[in-house]
Amino acid sequence: MTLRGRLTAAFLAVVLGPVLLGSFFVGMTVATVSQDRTVERLDHAVTTTRTAIGALCRQLQAVADAVAVLGAGEQRTAAEQMITRGLATEVRIGGRQNPGERDCAKPAQQPGNISAVVASAVQGDVVVFAVERIDPALIRRLAGTSGAEVEISTTARAGDQVRHLSAEPGQPLPLTVRVYSDQPGALYAFLAVAVLAVAGLAIFAARWLARSTTRPLEELAWAAGKVAGGDLEVRVPVGRVDEIGRLAGTFNRMTRELRSYVQALTASRDQLRGHLAILGDTLSSTHDLHRILQVILQTARAATGARGGVVLLLDPADGMLAARCAEGLSGQWDVPEKDLPSLRIALGQGILGTVAAGAEPRRGVRPAVLGDEPACQTYVAVPICAPATVDDPLWPGDPAAEGGKPATLGVLALYDRLGADEFDDADLLTLRTFAGQAGVAVHNVRVHEEAQRLSLTDPLTGLWNYRYLRESLRREVERANRFARMLTVLVLDLDHFKDVNDTYGHAAGDSVLGEFARRVREGLREVDVAFRQGGEEFVVLLPETDAYGGIIVAERLGAAIREMPVRVESRSGEARMQLTVPISVSIGIAVYPEHGGSAQQVLDAADDALYAAKHAGRDTYRLAERQQVPNVNVTQSSVSARVPEGQSENLGSVTGAPGGPQPPRQARGR
Ligand code: GH3
Ligand code: MG
Ligand code: MG
Repeated sequence: MTLRGRLTAAFLAVVLGPVLLGSFFVGMTVATVSQDRTVERLDHAVTTTRTAIGALCRQLQAVADAVAVLGAGEQRTAAEQMITRGLATEVRIGGRQNPGERDCAKPAQQPGNISAVVASAVQGDVVVFAVERIDPALIRRLAGTSGAEVEISTTARAGDQVRHLSAEPGQPLPLTVRVYSDQPGALYAFLAVAVLAVAGLAIFAARWLARSTTRPLEELAWAAGKVAGGDLEVRVPVGRVDEIGRLAGTFNRMTRELRSYVQALTASRDQLRGHLAILGDTLSSTHDLHRILQVILQTARAATGARGGVVLLLDPADGMLAARCAEGLSGQWDVPEKDLPSLRIALGQGILGTVAAGAEPRRGVRPAVLGDEPACQTYVAVPICAPATVDDPLWPGDPAAEGGKPATLGVLALYDRLGADEFDDADLLTLRTFAGQAGVAVHNVRVHEEAQRLSLTDPLTGLWNYRYLRESLRREVERANRFARMLTVLVLDLDHFKDVNDTYGHAAGDSVLGEFARRVREGLREVDVAFRQGGEEFVVLLPETDAYGGIIVAERLGAAIREMPVRVESRSGEARMQLTVPISVSIGIAVYPEHGGSAQQVLDAADDALYAAKHAGRDTYRLAERQQVPNVNVTQSSVSARVPEGQSENLGSVTGAPGGPQPPRQARGR
């Protein structure tokens, strides 16, 4: 049964039940009252009839008495007068009572035809009869007086509407008095019509009420079905101020909110998709660690709706967390990118330090003690770990790479979620995902850097190799040219190194090369760079150094090599011996731009000066021969003026080196 059907039935039951019950009681009451009134009227009619007959008898008796007392001569006249006055229909003087006449004083009980009522009076031997004939007029008079139907009948009957009066002295007639009850048919008809009208009205009202109640519900059900089908534009009419109107209003508001929520979700999903695309592109196309971390931080902020965030990486040099990327922060953290690395946090200190040290994420509200960390109301911080599968020989010194745990590379933290809500577990999960990507990115970049470093360094000596020499020399020459500075190039070659190999073995020769490289590195400034050009031939670049400075360095290096023989271990069979190997080095010096206008020319000039040094007996240095170089900014007088006296004329001179990069001299067979 539908709601509408139930409502209609309930309303009809509530309205029609009392109406029908009331009608029933009204009908019953009317019937009872009507019956009581009939009985009353019958009683009244009986009394009145009896009284009227009694009065008639007394009147006849008075007539008879009056006539009887008169003398014989007057009796006839008096009798006629009585008749004339209507006091009796007949006055009989003498004679006998007729058979159909009923005596008022002594009424006969036997049945028979009754024609008159008679009263008699005796005077002497004369009997005077006063007679009143019973005719329809008398009966009508009786009926009119009593208000009932009266008939002469000897049949005894009794009931609600009929009563029998038997003959008795003073009332000599056997009578049947009948009244008819007032049937309240009109009242019943009115009642029936009223009940029918009320029923009709009730049915109409019930249908209207049920329809008006259920129609908004049907509209709501329809609208809810549309919403369930994904149509969030649907609305229901709010035309009433009752509960259903409020329900409709609430439904509309709910649908509106749902639509804006879905729109916001869609927008944020699109935004996130865009950020993820950027992140994917960035991760796959660049080794720029700063750019990668920046994109990861931006994407993490967009995904969680955080006000600000920071990425810190562990600095292997001092084991502290150094800020690498920060956004949306205030206070001391709102600094230019280049100043960020100076913001440092010790491992185990504060939230960030604890997260890095324990490799466990944390989230919560504003900590009581902030320390150097960014000010915030809420925060979430996760460790950035190296990929778990990495068994990495590259980072033996990583402090967190112990105990089977993935190495902690840093921390990714977000602050103050927009809307002031706390970060929840879903945010933590999201951030861990981004931290995982950051970990992979940092690891990849470091592996790449290490591979690059390895490709540019010489494994035996740890010095930069020939490939990096070319790059560095080109760069330094360019810089010297742009800033009108000088650059000195030293080319070093160990003397008679073949003999060292031959005498002490190749392994000992390697050790000598390693020790030689170490002494060269020690004898240089921070800004000077040493390279192994090939074999036992080395190059040193001395930026912003003139020939005088170059000579001083050459002397210092020559002395450092010469003065202390190299200790090496020699093996012959199972036995091991400690040997001291005296070595010396010859050095060629050339200065840009004095001795060459290009990188290759300067290198060649130094090479030639080395050749001159060898030629001069080894264990010495020579400065390249000065040559005129156009289009350079450095004045040459200052260089030659500072060359120690007597050195210039000892130099061999080789000029006109070919342009373009050339392999090292050894490779060229010199
Ligand atoms: P000079 O004084 O004229 O330079 O004489 P030299 O013997 O040093 O010159 P040469 O170019 O004839 O010999 C260079 C030697 O250096 C030859 C080679 O065996 C040795 N050598 C080159 N590279 C290495 C290396 O990596 N390890 C060792 N042990 N020896 C090397
Ligand atoms: Mg040599
Ligand atoms: Mg050599």
